[in-house]
Amino acid sequence: MKQEIPYKIYLDETELPKYWYNLRAFMKNKPAPLLNPVTKQPMTEDELSEVFCRELVKQELDDTTPYIPIPDEIRDFYKMYRPAPLVRAYCLEKALDTPAHIYYKFEGNNTSGSHKLNSAIAQAYYAKQQGLKGVTTETGAGQWGTALSMACSYFGLDCKVYMVKVSYEQKPFRREVMRTYGANVTPSPSTTTAVGRKILEEFPGTGGSLGCAISEAVEAATNMEGYRYVLGSVLNQVLLHQSVIGVETKTALDKYGVTPDIIIGCAGGGSNLGGLISPFMGEKLQGKANYRIIAVEPASCPTLTRGKYAYDYCDTGKVCPLSKMYTLGSGFIPSASHAGGLRYHGMTSTLSQLYDDGLMEATSVKQTEVFEAAEYFARVEGILPAPESSHAIRVAIDEALKCKESGEKKTIVFGLTGTGYFDMYAYEKFHDGKMTDYLPTDEELEKSFAKLPKMD
Ligand SMILES: *Cc1c(COP(=O)(O)O)cnc(C)c1O
Repeated sequence: MKQEIPYKIYLDETELPKYWYNLRAFMKNKPAPLLNPVTKQPMTEDELSEVFCRELVKQELDDTTPYIPIPDEIRDFYKMYRPAPLVRAYCLEKALDTPAHIYYKFEGNNTSGSHKLNSAIAQAYYAKQQGLKGVTTETGAGQWGTALSMACSYFGLDCKVYMVKVSYEQKPFRREVMRTYGANVTPSPSTTTAVGRKILEEFPGTGGSLGCAISEAVEAATNMEGYRYVLGSVLNQVLLHQSVIGVETKTALDKYGVTPDIIIGCAGGGSNLGGLISPFMGEKLQGKANYRIIAVEPASCPTLTRGKYAYDYCDTGKVCPLSKMYTLGSGFIPSASHAGGLRYHGMTSTLSQLYDDGLMEATSVKQTEVFEAAEYFARVEGILPAPESSHAIRVAIDEALKCKESGEKKTIVFGLTGTGYFDMYAYEKFHDGKMTDYLPTDEELEKSFAKLPKMD
């Protein structure tokens, strides 16, 4: 059994973590390895290093070191906006008239507006260390692209962002924030890459998807000297960086002698949830505590609740390694009416394994219910939440209402991953009563599952 590091040496006087918490080190059933899409053999460090930064590849493959020191340069940047506040939602508790105690960890207190900056700054740091000129990436709603632009400008790196075309057009202000930080933003699919041209030929007029933008960003990185590709979710290294969320949360709760009963987070690719639960799940895996952990996903993109646990492509163009994960199929694109984010077809392999082992739960919620919760929360707690984060708010409220029914005084902690200032079109749709709920049919999902790669 691994020993927990006492918090004294885990944190410094600013209560900023000194180590990332590598949850995989505590897992008996490790997440399945990434496979080469051609040979179907585990990806080696050298193969991965052609696409990703070397040190990040090491972190990606390390499932044994429990605590990984955070370099001082990264901690200096974290100090600008961390520790992030852990807030007792007194107003929400009162409004709901619940005996439950509700806490949220707020990650929206930085200019990029979300938790994504925690990994962006780490990834930019390692790219700089390696002497690279720049990095490429994709962005959907724009939070990751914004965070990475900030991180790259801090370290003087070039940043090329492929932004899903519908978002590029619907969120001009996101785009301009990225350009303010010096990033180069291209709507995807584009004619600047072979894979983009191929997708455009096959689907003329398409608004693009995350999977497609990933393929373009990977191609661009591998074709340019001194560039690597970076990804804002899904990968183990991203969960590792996001563990600062969980370590800070646990430290603060421990300090006040509070033990949570339920921990809730929204799940797109799984990075914020994986980060938030890391030290708690670590205890659970060691039999030291038992927490209920709930992943919340959109009913229109129900990866854990209706997906298959299988090896799949991480991107539409099938250029990335294969990952064993809960997936809806790499060709799955949520309905155009879906405005709540969390659109990725897969789920990080770490959470997929934990879910498959029955160590956490998952639930899906409809977007109209999500926006109801978002508005309610904004009115009582003041913060304007991101639609993604509001999935967690929805379930936190539902659990608090169950406590009201049963009279149980449970402690609920949820991750409030970001702010919703750039999501006002979605809020507008909701306020105008134009938001609809579309759930994929079983036939649609079966069609998508039929295209999963054959593994024998
Ligand atoms: C990207 C994002 C998410 C979802 O990503 P995960 O990797 O699942 O954490 C959730 N909330 C916000 C605000 C985001 O920007």
